[in-house]
Amino acid sequence: MDPLEQKIKSVLEQIPFGENGTNIVEKNVVYSMAIEHNKASVVLVIPEEYKDLEGDVARKVKEGLKGLEEINSVNIDIVRSPSEVEGKGQANSANPAPPEQANYLKEYENVILVASGKGGVGKSTVAINLALALKKIGKTVSLMDADVYGPSVPIMLGLRGETIKLEGSQIKPINKYGLDCISVGNMIKEDQALIWRGPMAHQVIQNMLRDAAWPGGEYMIIDLPPGTGDVQLSLAQLTAATGAVVVCTPQDVALLDARKAIAMFDKVNIPVIGMIENMSAFVCPKCGAETPIFSKGGTERESEAQQVAFVGRVPIELDIRLGSDNGDPVVHGMPNSAAAKNFVEMAENLDKIIQGG
Ligand code: ADP
Repeated sequence: MDPLEQKIKSVLEQIPFGENGTNIVEKNVVYSMAIEHNKASVVLVIPEEYKDLEGDVARKVKEGLKGLEEINSVNIDIVRSPSEVEGKGQANSANPAPPEQANYLKEYENVILVASGKGGVGKSTVAINLALALKKIGKTVSLMDADVYGPSVPIMLGLRGETIKLEGSQIKPINKYGLDCISVGNMIKEDQALIWRGPMAHQVIQNMLRDAAWPGGEYMIIDLPPGTGDVQLSLAQLTAATGAVVVCTPQDVALLDARKAIAMFDKVNIPVIGMIENMSAFVCPKCGAETPIFSKGGTERESEAQQVAFVGRVPIELDIRLGSDNGDPVVHGMPNSAAAKNFVEMAENLDKIIQGG
């Protein structure tokens, strides 16, 4: 048994099951466990007569495994008998089959979800400039715009009106400023995005993940829709994301939404890597004086409270907005600006956090 297996076994042996002082290992409750990219997927067999224990057991397994340094997130499926897992029928209707699980984007070392609790906090601006900044520090980077309800990538990268082409039967990413990207905005008409419902959103996300000729590399940056909806759940099912970074503005009301986003990622077993403060303060282009329009520092305090890393902050700057609106993001169009330097620092920091430094 390798050292990690040994550690896992010791953790699981501490979890009691039923009477007589037995534990879940002795009682063969753990049917299988797979660990990939620090993400554990566990199948537990809890027979009907022990059904009342399942919540408690699942919570303890999750807490115990997450306590190991090698494991960041834990996904638990519960079945009533091994035959359910082995596909021999007897599916329990009270316990429907888990949703389709897949592991797309395996060709990337890191899949980073850029999220926000609500719209308008600059999530897409951050996702795009962060992707360009990672590229600038020498990484291979792709970008997927999963904001199916309001895709901004075509505008911000100057790709409005371009349509995705096929390479054989696969969708071919568009290369812009060195990023390979696919946006739902380049796959459909602009006004179509607004009428999508959950299952359609899931379908299009699956198309972008499964049917695209992604080149692979060090980073895949995914721009999520704001909030806590279907797309987040689809991605949790369809990829083994390295984790999410949550963008927010520093004032309390935005942080409340950010907290909800963090709680949702926890529920779907996606680790939250850290938080980013956007629109931190306004720096006057004439005199350089700083005005904290939305206050400043709130995100850093919140990241401490949430026990996640603080990845960096970006001020409100006209150059950032102009770059986004003109299809030439500040990191590419104005590489010597203070804002571009902020994004590069953020990229270095994120890379350091991910490499465990
Ligand atoms: P979200 O993806 O959260 O809805 P966007 O990235 O679309 O937000 O940004 C909303 C608007 O705010 C855009 O016009 C964008 O150019 C602008 N914006 C975002 N961040 C900044 C910033 N740091 N400074 C100035 N304008 C910004």
